[in-house]
Amino acid sequence: MRVPVVWSEDCLRHEPGGEVWLGVWDEGTEVPARAVVLRDALAVAGAPVVAARPHGDEIVRAVHDPDLARIWQAWEQAGLPAEYGRDRVVPYVFPTPGMLAGLPLRSPPAVHGRAGLFCYDTMTLVGPGSWAAIRGAADAALTAADLVSSGERLAYALCRPPGHHVTRSAYGGSCYLNNAAIAAQALRAAGARRVAVVDIDAHHGNGTQMIFYERRDVWYGSVHVDPGAGWFPHYAGYAAERGRGDGEGCNRNVPLAPGTGDDGWLAGVTALCDEARALAPDAVVVSLGLDAAATDPESPLCVTEAGYRAAGRLVGALGPAVLIQEGGYDLPSLGGLAVAALSGAAEGAGLDAS
Ligand SMILES: [Zn+2]
Repeated sequence: MRVPVVWSEDCLRHEPGGEVWLGVWDEGTEVPARAVVLRDALAVAGAPVVAARPHGDEIVRAVHDPDLARIWQAWEQAGLPAEYGRDRVVPYVFPTPGMLAGLPLRSPPAVHGRAGLFCYDTMTLVGPGSWAAIRGAADAALTAADLVSSGERLAYALCRPPGHHVTRSAYGGSCYLNNAAIAAQALRAAGARRVAVVDIDAHHGNGTQMIFYERRDVWYGSVHVDPGAGWFPHYAGYAAERGRGDGEGCNRNVPLAPGTGDDGWLAGVTALCDEARALAPDAVVVSLGLDAAATDPESPLCVTEAGYRAAGRLVGALGPAVLIQEGGYDLPSLGGLAVAALSGAAEGAGLDAS
């Protein structure tokens, strides 16, 4: 399986140290071991591992408002870890539309107040090594986009932390920078006129959707567990969301009932690929979440390894593609799922999948 795997050692430096979910501290499942398991399984399967190259901030700034880079530094300078025992950034107040009731959105000087300005949940923590890992993941996405822009048919970025829940200016859902949006923007900058993003993570990629919601040049499609059935991100991911303004008709959501297995999920992936193909995109970004697997603790979908291989074939056949690692949390099955998905993509692209 010869799909290049772009890797940044820095991705291991993000230690969220758990999460606060429904008011209780949990260990969390977005752990550094995920990246190691994925890298090792793909290397054993024969994939060449390529080091991520550092990139400037131009593409990142094209899809994100800057600020996150400074949050840990500000938190530390405010003495929150040393003097108050707060060793991770966790906001406690959120400027919701109901709270402001029309008042202007301020940027409060106190960092513990300001954190809720750009973090929208309590389970996406920032610690001392987080920014290096977040930026390493973005560099992996940018390097994979470079490979595809310069003629590779497929490249996979082993991004950790994942990214598809990050909007232009707000992070959450264990994501901090939107690696898929960064890859799509990089492909555009390198000359692709139209990019299709196909998101097969178990959860809706609300961040990617909203970054491109009013744009025609980047189409976004997602198959995911129905947010209306009680699943993250709860507020987005509904079938009626089809884009706005110039982006009207350039967004497609396929929500699935909890318990959906290979047949229903692959029908959704096929629907997305059919719509993407009709646009004749010059390049494709795949948000490759492996958490739709039956073994995964974070979603109620029941996809098998064979399902992921079949999905890989469908997205791999669409055109030159950057595959971006998103979710996937069951360490024992994660490697096999990644190998299946990438082997399928290689088959779909007509490359040697052995
Ligand atoms: Zn997910």
